[in-house]
Amino acid sequence: MGITKDTIQRLVAVQQQDAIIDGLQKEMDRVPREIAALQAGLETAKAKQAEAKARIIGCEKKKKEKELELAAKEEAIRKHTTELNQVKTNDAFKALQHEIEQAKAAGSQIETEILEVMEGIDSGRREEKSAAAELKAAEDKAKNEIGNLEKELAELKAKHDAQKSVRDAAAASVPPDMMRIYSHARMRGKLDAIVPVDGGNCSACRINLAPQMIIEVAKAKTLVFCESCQRILYKPEPAVKAAE
Ligand SMILES: [Zn+2]
Repeated sequence: MGITKDTIQRLVAVQQQDAIIDGLQKEMDRVPREIAALQAGLETAKAKQAEAKARIIGCEKKKKEKELELAAKEEAIRKHTTELNQVKTNDAFKALQHEIEQAKAAGSQIETEILEVMEGIDSGRREEKSAAAELKAAEDKAKNEIGNLEKELAELKAKHDAQKSVRDAAAASVPPDMMRIYSHARMRGKLDAIVPVDGGNCSACRINLAPQMIIEVAKAKTLVFCESCQRILYKPEPAVKAAE
């Protein structure tokens, strides 16, 4: 497999570059989520405006209905007032007078209801105006911020791609078998697939390593795996500068 202290250090360097790539990827993943949140904000503002509009329409419809009811009451009052001159008996006169009083009272009640509905229309218009202003502000904000986020994403992608080329070049200098073992461990979720021995312990899972194992790690003739967490172990050396 061509395992030496040097190839092990190269693998460690690849892992450092993979960590940078992972970090860039994480930032790239954040951008679409932020854009979606801005768009959701826009939808909320739009819904608020539509709600206010619907309320105004509802109030206007009710106002028309009430106005028709009022007109009907006024018509009844006119009709009965005319009839007052035509009745022959006192009882009939009184009955008509009673009807007129009732129609007047009902009309007055309807007028009050119309005023309330008109207040509803006014407040609906105020809400609609403020919702429209909110929507405009949200649109300006979203336009500006989405533009920035898209620019940021493009920059991150460029950085990511450049870093990926550097990493791939470094990975090419590591024996393929070692790369396969390393990549396999990373695919299974162990992003720190190769870890230094820390004193007598695995620096990842902290298990105490057998002295013979530490000697094998120091020799670097073969890959030594932590018995507990299965990570590749290495003896920390003065860091090899990562290719740039
Ligand atoms: Zn371990």
